[in-house]
Amino acid sequence: MLPIIDGHNDTLLAATSDRAGGEFLREGGDGHLDLARAEDAGLAAGVFAMFVPNEGELDYETLPPAVEHDRARRVVDEQFATLHDWADATDRFRVVGDIAALEACLDGEAVGAIPHIEGAAAVSPDLVNLDSLYENGLRSLGLVWSRPNAFAHGVPFEHGATPDIGPGLTEAGFDLVEACEELGIVVDLAHLNAAGFRDVAGAVDAPLVVSHAGAHAISPSSRNLTDDQLDAVADSGGIVGCTFGTAHLRPDGERGKDASLSTLLDHVEYYADRMGVEHVGLGSDFDGASIPDAVGDVRGLRDVLAGLEARGFDRAEREAIAYGNWRRVLAAWWN
Ligand code: ZN
Repeated sequence: MLPIIDGHNDTLLAATSDRAGGEFLREGGDGHLDLARAEDAGLAAGVFAMFVPNEGELDYETLPPAVEHDRARRVVDEQFATLHDWADATDRFRVVGDIAALEACLDGEAVGAIPHIEGAAAVSPDLVNLDSLYENGLRSLGLVWSRPNAFAHGVPFEHGATPDIGPGLTEAGFDLVEACEELGIVVDLAHLNAAGFRDVAGAVDAPLVVSHAGAHAISPSSRNLTDDQLDAVADSGGIVGCTFGTAHLRPDGERGKDASLSTLLDHVEYYADRMGVEHVGLGSDFDGASIPDAVGDVRGLRDVLAGLEARGFDRAEREAIAYGNWRRVLAAWWN
């Protein structure tokens, strides 16, 4: 069974809020991902996001308001502690901080978690707490979720819309990107607006990473990547993790669980055709988005790989998509 590295889940958010899921150590929870099912699925490692929930209802057309830095820090501290508690509770699960640890997970020693912050509001605008976040295990950081912060601006959830809205990185944003590259924290461009994307692409030597997104050419959501952005990722040697989020897969942008496996595979195939297979990965958004019933939960990762085989992706190509590309790009950032 090929091991899998998955580029994004929100299981920590589920564990620390009233959303479904998040009972990671208990079998048979109602979310997409727990340890027992991750082992069944051959999940070697996942990027575990820390995310500050919205206050109040989300309006899908406009940009949600910024979150307060102090609140973001409290939430991230709590979710980080939950992640370390899980790893302390069992040797079947560990926090991954370097390539050797990732390799051990790929060898089947344990399921690994790569700690990630989705939206940098918990980072102080003067970066004074970035080192301590790194010491606590942070190895990946998404500059924004949809909400603006001191560093960058995001995109809304709008269908039939361009990601090219709003200004690029702030001065603090450029400083943060530089500091992350220096420390070895992946800068994730998911949900960043087009101007910010261009700014990061011009500022880093490391390969560009978009942990979870769909192809704008198939599903024209402001959260999906345009062909120009895919080309920039490929030129940098980077990776796009294909989202499983139904609203960002379906050509009509419809939410819910009603999407076929084939719709998901269409995005993977589009990426491979446009960028080359060496720039394609998986980025499920388990426990963070409605995913196709055809996938169901983490065990559906096997169905995705089987579907790729049925579409003619050979073993080497499936290895690249399942884990090889993520391993190469993470190594480039962490070394
Ligand atoms: Zn997301």
